[in-house]
Formats: sequence, structure tokens, C-alpha cells
Amino acid sequence: MTIYLHKHDLPDGIIFTDGVAVDTETLGLSLTRDPLCLVQLSAGDGDAHLVQLDRAKYNCPNLKALLGDPGIQKIFHFARFDVAMVQQYLGVTMTPVYCTKIASKLVRTYTDRHGLKDLTRELIGKDMSKQQQSSDWGADELSQAQQAYAASDVLYLHQLRDKLNVMLTREGRMELAQSCFDFLPVRVALDLAGWAETDIFAHA
Ligand code: MN
Repeated sequence: MTIYLHKHDLPDGIIFTDGVAVDTETLGLSLTRDPLCLVQLSAGDGDAHLVQLDRAKYNCPNLKALLGDPGIQKIFHFARFDVAMVQQYLGVTMTPVYCTKIASKLVRTYTDRHGLKDLTRELIGKDMSKQQQSSDWGADELSQAQQAYAASDVLYLHQLRDKLNVMLTREGRMELAQSCFDFLPVRVALDLAGWAETDIFAHA
């Protein structure tokens, strides 16, 4: 496994043929208050690319082109947050998307543990450390521990997608999952427009 740290943008020439695993790190969980600091990517080949963003300008044409490419599937764990953050700070609408958390909720109905750590342990047999989750992602220099943590969040998403797809197909829920993924841009638009806490389908 190699972790590549890029300043401000992705270099030319990195190819993602089987979709790109994407995660983001921010200064907090508020879509309007907390800036996007880091975007992590993996082609599913065991390597990770970390792009440390220039928060003054967010000038990153290669990264924006990749994330906005409708021919490349973007794979997330809890896509709702990352898609909203990227929309808010990079102005890019990411489609098509795959969310391992939604897939897990639709098919692993025998548990209520749908966190990335639990999912990775059960389906891949790997233990992830979550120690650096709430560290300072706005720092100019990211520590080795931060880089390793940030990378680990994208390294297994392809494998998780493939395993979850087998389970979704087995249970006849693949189409339902796909419909949820296709709806994500609408859910994100509602979040950004002020309906984040509201279930618009609920009666009350
Ligand atoms: Mn993360």
C-alpha cells in the first residue's frame, strides 16, 4: 500500500477504471460552517491519493473533473455527507454514486451496526483504527497517523461494494439500492436548502 499526498490538486495521469472510492475530511460536521480540507481517493488497487485542498480558492481542476465525470462511479461510506460537502465547496455534483452504508442498511438487516469499522471487520476481516477521526484536518502538515487514517477510509470501499452487491442480489434488493443511490442528489439538495433535519416523506 502506498499513500500519495498531493497539494491542492490531483496530478495528471491517474486512472480510475472500476470506479473511484471517495472520502472527505472537514473541520467539522456542519455543511455551512466547516470547510472541506482533504479529499481521499482510491482506485481499489490498495493505494490511496490524498488531496490537501487550498482552502482560499479550491482551485483543483483535475479533482473537479474526476469527481464530476458521469462515466465514473463514486463509491462512499455515507455518501450523503461527502456529496453535500463537495457540492458546497467544489461546486461539483457527483453522480453516479454508490453508498456502502445504504447498501449495508438494506441488506445487513440482522444488525444495527453499519459503521465503516464494523462493516470492514465483518465483510473483509480487517480492523480499522478510528483514532484520528476527530483530529485537526485544517493543519498545514498532516501527521503520518492522520494520513494513514485518511487513506484507510477509502482503501476497502471497492471490496465492500462488491461483497454488498452479492448480498443485495441474493436478497433481491439491488434495484431498491440503486434507486436510493439515484435519489441521493435530491436528498443532498434538501440538506443544503435547509431540510437536513426533516423527513419530507413523514406524515408529521
Ligand atoms: Mn473519513
